[in-house]
Amino acid sequence: MSSIKEYFSEAGKGLKSLIDGMVVTGKELVTPKVTECYPENRNTLQIADRFRAELTLKYDKEGRHKCIACGICQMNCPNGTIQLSTKMVDLPDGKKKRKLDKYMYDIGSCTFCMLCVTTCPQDALEFSNDFEQAVFTRGSLLKQLNYRPEPKDDVAAPAPKPAIDPEKLAKIKAEALAKAAKIKAEKEAAAKAVSEAPSATPNAEDSKEENKEK
Ligand code: SF4
Ligand code: SF4
Repeated sequence: MSSIKEYFSEAGKGLKSLIDGMVVTGKELVTPKVTECYPENRNTLQIADRFRAELTLKYDKEGRHKCIACGICQMNCPNGTIQLSTKMVDLPDGKKKRKLDKYMYDIGSCTFCMLCVTTCPQDALEFSNDFEQAVFTRGSLLKQLNYRPEPKDDVAAPAPKPAIDPEKLAKIKAEALAKAAKIKAEKEAAAKAVSEAPSATPNAEDSKEENKEK
């Protein structure tokens, strides 16, 4: 007798479990879909802004980034994912400045921890949400983040001063020396004329005597 009761009890539990499952299934039938039909929906796909797909440098409208090549992100990266190189450039005002040459990022070793982004003093970095990062070779995982050409006014060197032709320089010197010699000679002649002037000019007393005699 007890085995019959037990049988129906277990059958009832199975039926309840089946109904519970059907209720869940029925609810999901009328719930809006959350899954994406990729890649068919590639053009309309919405990825959350905070999704960390790839490290990038922020660029403004003129194509400038804010990285000053301080190396803090490289030092803070726990995986050696970032490798920076720098260069010295001549500024238009004649001064020299150290600038970023290459910002290399190996997405293959990045753990997307954001330490580089949060410690950058220039707020120069961010993560894009471009999740399609599959490539065929490991080498393709190494990316240069400063890939855009730098605006010209940032790297323009001052125009080199035109070199003076040695012959022209010698001619200018000779002309200057001749001019100086001429001026000196004229000055000496003028001084000599002034020094000789009193003896050549009759004085006023002599003129008076001459007039009386007449
Ligand atoms: S990205 Fe930021 S922390 Fe890294 S070198 Fe450039 S300025 Fe420095
Ligand atoms: S997110 Fe983390 S692992 Fe990736 S480059 Fe930045 S610091 Fe390195």
